[in-house]
Amino acid sequence: MKIYTISKDARQSSEALPVKATVTANKMLKFHNTLSNKIEEFHPLSGNEVKMYICGPTVWNFAHIGNFRTFTFGDILARYLRYKGFDLTYVMNLTDVDDRIINEASKRNISIDEMTAPFIVAFWEDMDAIGNLRPDIAPRATEHIAEMIEIISTLLENGKAYESDGSIYYRISAFPDYGKLSKIKFEGNIVGGSERIDTDKYEKEDARDFALWKLVDDDDPTGWEAPFGRGRPGWHIECSAMSMKYLGETFDIHAGGIDLQFPHHENEIAQSEGATGKLFAKYWLHGEFLKIDNEKMAKSLGNDFTLRDIFSRGFSPLAIRYLLFSVPYGKQLNFTFENLKGAETTVERLNDFKKRLHEAHLQDGVNPHLQSKVREYLREFEEAMDDNLNTSVGLAALHNMVREVNTALANETVLTEDRSVILQVLDSFHAVLGIFPDESEELIDDDIEKLIDERQEARRSRDFARSDEIRDMLAEKGIMLEDTKDGVRWRRK
Ligand code: AMP
Ligand code: ZN
Repeated sequence: MKIYTISKDARQSSEALPVKATVTANKMLKFHNTLSNKIEEFHPLSGNEVKMYICGPTVWNFAHIGNFRTFTFGDILARYLRYKGFDLTYVMNLTDVDDRIINEASKRNISIDEMTAPFIVAFWEDMDAIGNLRPDIAPRATEHIAEMIEIISTLLENGKAYESDGSIYYRISAFPDYGKLSKIKFEGNIVGGSERIDTDKYEKEDARDFALWKLVDDDDPTGWEAPFGRGRPGWHIECSAMSMKYLGETFDIHAGGIDLQFPHHENEIAQSEGATGKLFAKYWLHGEFLKIDNEKMAKSLGNDFTLRDIFSRGFSPLAIRYLLFSVPYGKQLNFTFENLKGAETTVERLNDFKKRLHEAHLQDGVNPHLQSKVREYLREFEEAMDDNLNTSVGLAALHNMVREVNTALANETVLTEDRSVILQVLDSFHAVLGIFPDESEELIDDDIEKLIDERQEARRSRDFARSDEIRDMLAEKGIMLEDTKDGVRWRRK
C-alpha cells in the first residue's frame, strides 16, 4: 500500500498558516447560528480573539469517517478563522469515560485507561493523516473530574440539581430557557427520544431531568470521590467543565455534529448557564451527517468505515478529506466509493496542476490580466467561505481558476512573474482547505537529479531566473547544491 503524508504544517497548530486573507477588511464572516436559527454576522466577544470548542470523540473505538466529517468541518472552521486573521484558541475534548467505554473495558477485564489509550493514539494518527490541525488544547474528561464536581456542587447549592437514590440530577424545571437551542417543546414525556438520553433506573422528579453524577458501588473501579458521594460523571457535564475551564464562562463558538444538538448541547447550556448565570456560547454551529445508503453512518448500525478501512482500499487521505468537505457542513453528504474515486481524481488533478505550474518553462514577463483573474477567483472563494463556509461554491472558484491557468499555460500566456502569484494564491486555498500533499515530502534521488539537470540546462541557456528558482525549490526541501569544477554535487541537509 502506498504511504501517504499530508503537509507537516498541518500537524502543528496555531502558527501553521502563513497566508492571510486578501480582502477581508470589508467582508463579513457569517455563520448559521443554531441558537437563533439564523445566519448571523460573526463578531467575537472580545476584539480579535476567538475561543472555540468542539465536542471531540468518545475514544472507545476507532473514529469512523462520519466522525471525521464533523472533525474536518471543525478543522476548516479553525483554519478559516485563522486565515481571516482571528487569534483563535481551539479546544477539542476527548471523552474518555462513558457507558460504552466502561462496558467495553469490563468485558475485556481492563481499566478504562487501558481501554482508551490505544484509541487516543489512533485518533491523533488519524487526525494527522487526514490533515486536520491539532487543536490547541485537547482535554481529557478523566483529568477534569474536579471541575465537574465544582459545577455540580454549584448547581446543588442553587437548587438546579438534586439528589435521588445517591445520584445527582439536573432539575430542568428550574431552567426556563431549556429547549432554546433545539427548539424542542417539552410537553409530554421525551424519555428514549434520543439514543443518548438518560434512561437511568433511579427516581427522577421529572422524566426530562438528566444525570450529572451517577452513583457507583464502593468497589466499582470507575468512580471518583465527591462531596455528594462516590460516582462518575454524566456525559454532558464533561463538556461544560472542559470548555469553561479553557475558554471562560462565556466563549465564542461551540461546534459539533447535529446529533449533539439535543440533548447533549441543550444540557451543556442548562448546566453551564444554570451554574454561572451567564451566556455559555454565543454561536452554535452544527455539522450535518455523513450518510451511507441514506442512513446515518454509525458504529452501532455497523455501516461505518474507519480511515484505516479507506486507506487499505488504496484511497489517499486527501481524497477522503476532499470528499468530506466538498459538501457544505450544513448539508447531508451521502458517502459512496464512486464519489470517493471522483475525489481522488480531483485531488490528483489539483496536485498535477501545481507541479506543472512549478515546472513549466515560462517566457519572461507579466500577464496582469491573468494575475487579476487569479486574484478574483481567490476573492470568490473567500466570499463563499464567508457565507457560512460554503465549501462547494469555494471549490468551484478553485476549479475555475485551475481551468483558466491551464488554458493560459497551453497558450503560453503564463509568464515568469505570474508563477509566484498563482502559487501564492494556491497556498491561500491550501491554508484553508489543506488540499495539497506534503511539500516537504522527501524527493527521491532521481527527481533531484532531474531537477539539477534542468538547472544546468537553464544556466546554459542563461535562464538564471529559472536556475535560481530550481535551486531555491530544492533548498526548501532540504537539498543543498554545491557547484564544483567537476559538476554539481548535492547533499541532504
Ligand atoms: P462520538 O465519538 O460518538 O462522541 O462522536 C464524535 C463526533 O462525531 C460528534 O460530534 C458526532 O456528532 C459526530 N458524528 C457521529 N456520527 C456522525 C455522522 N454519521 N456524520 C457526521 N458526524 C457524525
Ligand atoms: Zn460535548
